[in-house]
Amino acid sequence: MKYSAARILWEGLTGHKGWKPVWRDPAPRPHYDIVIIGGGGHGLATAHYLAKVYGQRKIAVLEKGWIGGGNVGRNTTIIRSNYLLDGNEPFYEFSLKLWEGLEQDLNYNAMVSQRGIMNLIHSDAQRDAFRRRGNAMILNGADAELLTTEQVRNEAPFLNFENARFPIKGALMQRRGGTVRHDAVAWGFARSADSHGVDIIQNCEVTGFKIENGRVKGVETSRGFIGAGKVGVAVAGNSSKVMAMAGMRLPIESHVLQAFVSEGLKPIIPGVITFGAGHFYVSQSDKGGLVFGGDIDGYNSYAQRGNSPVVEDVAEGGMALMPIIGRARLLRMWGGIMDMSMDGSPFIDRTHIEGLYFNGGWSYGGFKATPASGHAFAHLLATDTPHDTAKAYRLDRFQSGAMIDEKGAGAQPNLH
Ligand SMILES: Cc1cc2nc3c(=O)[nH]c(=O)nc-3n(C[C@H](O)[C@H](O)[C@H](O)COP(=O)(O)OP(=O)(O)OC[C@H]3O[C@@H](n4cnc5c(N)ncnc54)[C@H](O)[C@@H]3O)c2cc1C
Repeated sequence: MKYSAARILWEGLTGHKGWKPVWRDPAPRPHYDIVIIGGGGHGLATAHYLAKVYGQRKIAVLEKGWIGGGNVGRNTTIIRSNYLLDGNEPFYEFSLKLWEGLEQDLNYNAMVSQRGIMNLIHSDAQRDAFRRRGNAMILNGADAELLTTEQVRNEAPFLNFENARFPIKGALMQRRGGTVRHDAVAWGFARSADSHGVDIIQNCEVTGFKIENGRVKGVETSRGFIGAGKVGVAVAGNSSKVMAMAGMRLPIESHVLQAFVSEGLKPIIPGVITFGAGHFYVSQSDKGGLVFGGDIDGYNSYAQRGNSPVVEDVAEGGMALMPIIGRARLLRMWGGIMDMSMDGSPFIDRTHIEGLYFNGGWSYGGFKATPASGHAFAHLLATDTPHDTAKAYRLDRFQSGAMIDEKGAGAQPNLH
């Protein structure tokens, strides 16, 4: 069923009886050409592009819980392509371009809103670093502007410009960055994949792999064995656990990242604002809630809830940047499990097991990557060659020394 204004009008006039479920609920078949493990944004996007762009058939997405229950429905919805390094910037810019056409591609309203992202500058050295990053973005076909303090003041007069420790000295602005309604991304990709014949199987946990003579033959699941020609793993925070079932140890740690939403307020925040002197970022949802977050919790965990030291840290960051936030009441908060890689950059690669492919290590930044990650993973699964924009996302880069460490922070996940 195609969604359109005419359809809404017709359904309105005929009692809304014609709407169909957005995806089917099929029983698993005994064998698929390609099985994707993980019904998050990346797994569903992979299935969509595999079927729609790469013409693959007999595909299943296996999800242990429900579609949108993982990080894709838990993030702070920010999209951007403001990276510095060659390994990253072309990939994230490819993703931003896909976001720009996504709603037409999926025929689904994902509320893609390019309201701009401002990374605040608090010192002269930081201005130099952001100027360099902005130039790298422009060289890769992205947009970037360096704003003066006065320009920032015009955009967001409520910020604490006179803070003695962290005065605001300008910002790196990407106007094409912004926000997207996160769960609608999961639903839109799921609906499109389903309409191209992909079986989306919920409540189906993968519990093991069948590997014979170095080749994957299928997966053991809570709903029985499912045979597969190829298996793509896209389980985000559970990457280490799932790949351990195939005998692999990854350069990834799992940590909790929390998000916070205030009560609904009148429009105040024009786009996304990130604090350059602490870990704090904030935007405002269309319902009026201030949506904000900060650092990961300081210990490894698979629990989808966080702890109070980070709540305090985020509140301190918010108060230092925009004291008006102290007047807003917190409505909700939650956590998601982050697959933090050792250089802060992801993996989209084959493994040493034939037919087994891995997508993960998305750290804080995997939501904005969703379309490009799905596209590049589909390319890899369909053609056995890496997509042009994802060639650097190799599993062996720590052996070869080709890390993609945006901040030069080293192997410490919370610093990326
Ligand atoms: C609080 C928070 C804020 C964030 N903010 C941003 C942001 O503003 N911008 C940004 O770009 N990124 C952000 N991120 C990161 C982003 O959300 C993730 O990197 C991205 O969503 C991960 O990919 P995914 O959508 O495929 O993950 P998920 O939605 O987590 O999908 C993985 C799926 O795999 C399933 N699974 C796991 N194990 C198994 C198994 N054994 N069998 C079957 N299924 C299994 C899980 O149930 C899950 O549904 C944020 C994350 C969090 C938690």
